[in-house]
Amino acid sequence: MIFVLCGPGGVGKGTVASMLCRRNEWLELSRSWTTRKRREGESGDAYVFVDQAHFKAAVEADGFLEWAWFLENLYGTPFPGDEYGGCQKHILLEIDVQGAAQVRERVPGAVVVVLEPPSEDELRRRLQGRGDDHAHVEARMRLSMAEIKAAHSLGALGVVNDDLDQTVTEVGELFRAAVLKRCGSI
Ligand code: 5GP
Repeated sequence: MIFVLCGPGGVGKGTVASMLCRRNEWLELSRSWTTRKRREGESGDAYVFVDQAHFKAAVEADGFLEWAWFLENLYGTPFPGDEYGGCQKHILLEIDVQGAAQVRERVPGAVVVVLEPPSEDELRRRLQGRGDDHAHVEARMRLSMAEIKAAHSLGALGVVNDDLDQTVTEVGELFRAAVLKRCGSI
């Protein structure tokens, strides 16, 4: 099955996604490609970092389950092998809402969760803490509320990321229940 965690940048998707996979060993985190430059201190395997020519060649070869432009950079999910929609394996995608919409079309049984910040001020504070410049932070803030709305219109389940531990538990339980319902066992 395919599980999608979307929501505005800075809401904590990355942390929640890696904790989810650590606590639920049946869940495998997909590694995206991006044309964004690596941030200072960011792990070299947070993404497959490529230039635009490489990315576009992969798009032309139909190498992505979904891909999108996000604030002047390209991001995409490579196909997670055959049978990615079934019960053989369970993949977690941590992607933006445009990507979530494409996954919904391609994989109708995908389970989509949108992570929401406790408040707008808290989201701005988190974005500022990551070292992006002022203009970038404000551009992201403008996108954030629109992203949350768009995710709900896709039928995403909303979870407020206030207490990290509780959020991971809540999302993990949602995912686990979906696997048990569809596949009977994990
Ligand atoms: P960041 O640059 O902060 O790592 O990511 C920017 C946005 O791109 C985040 O909302 C993140 O979830 C999203 N993103 C990361 N990987 C992918 C991907 O493979 N596809 C799509 N559509 N969005 C992605």
